Amino acid sequence: MKKNIYLQKIGEFEWSILIKLKKDLERSLKQFSLSVKICPDKIPLTDLELNPLRRQHDASIVMDRLIKHVKNKQYFRTLGVMDKDIFSRFLNFIFGIAINPQKRFLKFSGVALISITRLKETFYGRKEDKALVELRVLKEALHELGHTFGLGHCENLCIMQFSNSLADTDEKPPKFCDTCLRELNDFFFS
Ligand SMILES: [Zn+2]
Ligand SMILES: [Zn+2]
Repeated sequence: MKKNIYLQKIGEFEWSILIKLKKDLERSLKQFSLSVKICPDKIPLTDLELNPLRRQHDASIVMDRLIKHVKNKQYFRTLGVMDKDIFSRFLNFIFGIAINPQKRFLKFSGVALISITRLKETFYGRKEDKALVELRVLKEALHELGHTFGLGHCENLCIMQFSNSLADTDEKPPKFCDTCLRELNDFFFS
């Protein structure tokens, strides 16, 4: 069975970001025979996901909507992408989040979400740097997808390093270390 990763647009931003991410993910995950597809529809964002006091979107509510949206679709993996600042219960902001499915469900489905807002140079009042932002988007996407493949955080020079700041994201390479690659090979080929 060909395994597909579906990129699901949530709210407003340029489609070109998803088109570039699709290409980059396909290249990065080639060895696992994964295809990446862009869902033609988008999930609109509403005030329900917005926390007005924080002026940020609540990642867990967006995740719930994403999970409902793909329910019954039998997608292998779904990665939601949005351009609004998100937070989770324990963290002031996050770049992304993944559901850690129970081990026995890992083979079938998984859902993750990333926000590109804090990956953009303009968020920090700096001049836009398209190539840099695209690389960061790829890194966060690979990291969250890695979680959906059963990987935890890693202390090697590896995409699975935890990112607490943009500097952390910029420092880590856009690829898995040998230890994580071995786990991924077990996951995909055993
Ligand atoms: Zn993580
Ligand atoms: Zn690793």
